[in-house]
Amino acid sequence: MSTWFTEKQTDNFGITAKVNRSLHKEKTEFQDLEMLQTEEWGNMLVLDDMVMTTEKDEFVYHEMLAHIPLFTHPSPKKVLVVGGGDGGVIREVLKHDSVEKAVLVEIDGKVIEYSKQYLPSIAGTLEDPRVDVQVGDGFMHIANSEREYDVIMVDSTEPVGPAVNLFTKGFYEGIAKALKEDGILVAQTDNPWFKADLIRQVCADVKETFPITKVYTANIPTYPSGLWTFTMGSKIYDPTQVPAERFTDIDTKYYTDELHAASFVLPKFVKDLTE
Ligand code: SAM
Repeated sequence: MSTWFTEKQTDNFGITAKVNRSLHKEKTEFQDLEMLQTEEWGNMLVLDDMVMTTEKDEFVYHEMLAHIPLFTHPSPKKVLVVGGGDGGVIREVLKHDSVEKAVLVEIDGKVIEYSKQYLPSIAGTLEDPRVDVQVGDGFMHIANSEREYDVIMVDSTEPVGPAVNLFTKGFYEGIAKALKEDGILVAQTDNPWFKADLIRQVCADVKETFPITKVYTANIPTYPSGLWTFTMGSKIYDPTQVPAERFTDIDTKYYTDELHAASFVLPKFVKDLTE
């Protein structure tokens, strides 16, 4: 008898996936963690009954969170990822030769541990010598950092539990202080169909903290509504004005330099949230 995992994306709507078997399930210090082997999406990491990443569609999210800011910055050397314990963003960051140091601050060590075990195609580069994995609260790491990073990426869960603070104006102000004078912030900001208020609020807060604020989108089938947004705050560099010669060849399956530009062209109902 096959079982199905269902994520309720709203009280009235959700998605469901056929499960071959549950590979691991535990209540960690911070959240419910389950690793599922699914028929359609391969192995899937679920936290608090929400899909975090799957082997089949993870490349979209990880490539778009990493490459848009890293090609916008002329020479990113030191990068911070807040959250991201599955290792997918780090994998993409390491594709940029200019990167000398990639720091990952993940609050839940179990996410890293079981991602290495059950998601090797995603977590496989966490042992790279350029990577510094720290288990801790990203909010505190930011509070203790000053003029240190070229690019900071917030790959957190939704604003629930340990991630609530990661969607506050105070956090974005802390990030501006932790960034060098020409630094760039990018954060996953959920979907415009069910979380319009969150996107509107984050945009307003980032606009008050960074001279350049832009939103871009990507299609992620296993995420709520399938249409995902990312909000960028930049001190100097405009992500829609990247010189063509900056785009070097990297191995990707979703991201391209044309898509880089196109992803900032927003449907009207999304654009309205950013104004
Ligand atoms: N891509 C997914 C999404 O958009 O929903 C997020 C994936 S990643 C696994 C999210 C990670 O953020 C989780 O492993 C969670 O433990 C971590 N996290 C949540 N709050 C955090 C905090 N305050 N500091 C550091 N990591 C945090």
